[in-house]
Amino acid sequence: MREEDIRVAVIHPGKFILPELGEDLGRYSERKLSARKIDIIKGARVASYDGSTVELSNGTRIRATTLIWTAGVKVNPVIESLDCGKERGRVLVNEYLAVPGVNGLWAAGDCAAVPAGNAGEFYPPTAQHGLREAVVAAKNIEATITGRALKPFTFKTLGQLATIGRHTGVASMFGFKFSGFAAWAMWRTVYLLKLPRLSKKLRVMFGWTFDLVFGREIEQLITVRDVQGLVDRLARVRARTNLPSVEQTSEAAAALN
Ligand SMILES: Cc1cc2nc3c(=O)[nH]c(=O)nc-3n(C[C@H](O)[C@H](O)[C@H](O)COP(=O)(O)OP(=O)(O)OC[C@H]3O[C@@H](n4cnc5c(N)ncnc54)[C@H](O)[C@@H]3O)c2cc1C
Repeated sequence: MREEDIRVAVIHPGKFILPELGEDLGRYSERKLSARKIDIIKGARVASYDGSTVELSNGTRIRATTLIWTAGVKVNPVIESLDCGKERGRVLVNEYLAVPGVNGLWAAGDCAAVPAGNAGEFYPPTAQHGLREAVVAAKNIEATITGRALKPFTFKTLGQLATIGRHTGVASMFGFKFSGFAAWAMWRTVYLLKLPRLSKKLRVMFGWTFDLVFGREIEQLITVRDVQGLVDRLARVRARTNLPSVEQTSEAAAALN
């Protein structure tokens, strides 16, 4: 494919992209992406997509066979059936992460609307908050059983990091703002540290370091064991969903032929 055959457009409803990181870093990201010939279309929303054309709220039509949707996370439908208070589909909890009016029901993470200090404000649905809410919820469940005092959930967002590609990032951490290679390195380090197990951390760290020097490796090594693992997993999914087995599918295909 030639570069001039590719068009990438970013559609954003606000005045600048990445509003969570503030205007300076948002504008910086726009400049970087525009320099890479990415069109940044602001002040418009995606109104519809019919598989070949994206229509924006301002009437602009863009022909596209690939649409990547990144706007928001929908609450799991299982929550809808719960008979309790909700806030934009999320289970409304009190500061102790308990659901008022439903004895023994607790919620944490993306499914929970956790009040954040000021009335009407809620903590954002991110892993940073979810992980800590889970710990407080677990301790409060234990405290309820053992008759101890409950602990309210309070947390100050540590910061936000984003990568905008080509070894460039933007970050707002502990009130300080970073951009460029330093922010990208910070972003990588944070995610590396979050990987479970030291051996995994080291493997990924060496892999990333080699990629920096020699470029990214695009081939992947798949062993017989990996294939067997996939076959076993597929068999389990088929058994759960009553899908026809591989043999039944092959027999049906043979009969058709
Ligand atoms: C593309 C993307 C990027 C993100 N980037 C960041 C980031 O950089 N930093 C950050 O902090 N956060 C980020 N987040 C948000 C973060 O992933 C979530 O806040 C976090 O995963 C929420 O954790 P959770 O345990 O509440 O929910 P989930 O991680 O969604 O876990 C819910 C689990 O419940 C399971 N489940 C669903 N229905 C049922 C059922 N009926 N029975 C049993 N199990 C069920 C699901 O399979 C899933 O495993 C990102 C999210 C997305 C989508």
